[in-house]
Amino acid sequence: MLKIGYLVSGGIITNYKCSSKCKHCCYSSSPQWPDDYMTPSMADEIFSTLRRLSCRSVHIGGGEPLLKPDKILPVLEAASRNGVGIEYIETNASWYRDETSADAVLKDLKKYGVHTLLISIDPYHNEYIPFWKVKALMAACSRVGMGVFPWLMDFWSDIDAMDDSRPHSLDEYARLFGQNYLARLSKRYGLNLKGRALKTYKSMMKKQSFEQVLEKSRPCRLLSGVYHFHVDLYGNFVPQSCPGLSIPLSELAKGADPARYRVFYTLETAGVKGLAELAMKEYGFNPQAEYAGECDLCYDIRNYLVLERGLNLPDLKPEGHYRYV
Ligand code: SF4
Ligand code: SF4
Repeated sequence: MLKIGYLVSGGIITNYKCSSKCKHCCYSSSPQWPDDYMTPSMADEIFSTLRRLSCRSVHIGGGEPLLKPDKILPVLEAASRNGVGIEYIETNASWYRDETSADAVLKDLKKYGVHTLLISIDPYHNEYIPFWKVKALMAACSRVGMGVFPWLMDFWSDIDAMDDSRPHSLDEYARLFGQNYLARLSKRYGLNLKGRALKTYKSMMKKQSFEQVLEKSRPCRLLSGVYHFHVDLYGNFVPQSCPGLSIPLSELAKGADPARYRVFYTLETAGVKGLAELAMKEYGFNPQAEYAGECDLCYDIRNYLVLERGLNLPDLKPEGHYRYV
C-alpha cells in the first residue's frame, strides 16, 4: 500500500491560477488555468486529515493565493476550526492596487490568524509584476503589523536597478548584468527544475543518452517528503519537489492501492527506469536518444501519457500541470 503515517509541515495550494507565468514556476501556474479555488468543505476535509496525521501548521501557496482574497478566508477559517496553524501565505503582490484596499485585505487576513506574508522578490516575478507593487505591499504590511518574509532579499539590488514602475524581461536583466544572467539566476535561486522551470532551463542542461539516464535511475521516494509536501485544492497530495504527480490525501492516509496509482508507485519504488519500462511496454512510448537527466525523461513520459495519449490517469493530476506549462 501507498501510505503516509504522519506529516510534519507543508503547504496548501488553494488555486493554480496565477496572475503571472514565471519562467521558474515548477507548478506551471499561469492565468490560463481554470478559475478554481479550494472550497470550504474540501479545506475542512484536508485540514482534519492533516491534523490526524499530526501536522499542526502549514503555509499557503499557489498559484497566487490572494488573486481573489475573499476565496481564501473560508479556507483560513477551516484551518482554525481544525487546529492547524498558518505559518505564512505566499504572494507575488500583483493584487496590490492602493493603500486602502491592501490594508483592508491584510487586516482581514490578520483577523483569520495570518501574521506573515512571504513576498516574492526575484527577477522571474519582475517579468510580470512591477517592483513598486512589492515595495507598496511591504509598506502596507508594516502599517498594519503584518510580518514579511522576503523571498529573496539577495535579488533586491538587481531589481531595484531597474525602473520600478513597470515589469522587466529577463532579456533586459541579461543586457544589464551579462548574457549568462539567466543561467546564474537558477543557481542563485536554488531552483527546483520541474514544470516550467525545467522547460526554461532544459536547453542549458547537460545531455545524456537514454541508456545513461536509466543507469543512474534510483527510486524517487515520493512519500518521504514529510516536511515540505503540498496538498492542492482538489485534495491531492503533491510530493515534495514533484508537482504533476498526485494521490488523494484521504486515500494516502488510509493506504492507497498501488494498482490504481501505477505511475506514482513505479516512480516511488523503481524510479524513472521503472516508469520508462512501463510506458514502453504498455503505452507504446518511444524514448528520445538524449535527455537532460532523469526528470527530463520523466516529464517526457508523463507529457506523452497525458497530452499525446490523452490518458486520464489518477496519479497524473492536475492535467493543467502538463497543459499550461
Ligand atoms: S512562481 Fe508564483 S507568481 Fe510565478 S507563476 Fe508560479 S505561482 Fe505564479
Ligand atoms: S524522476 Fe520524476 S518523480 Fe523522480 S524526481 Fe524527477 S520528476 Fe520527480
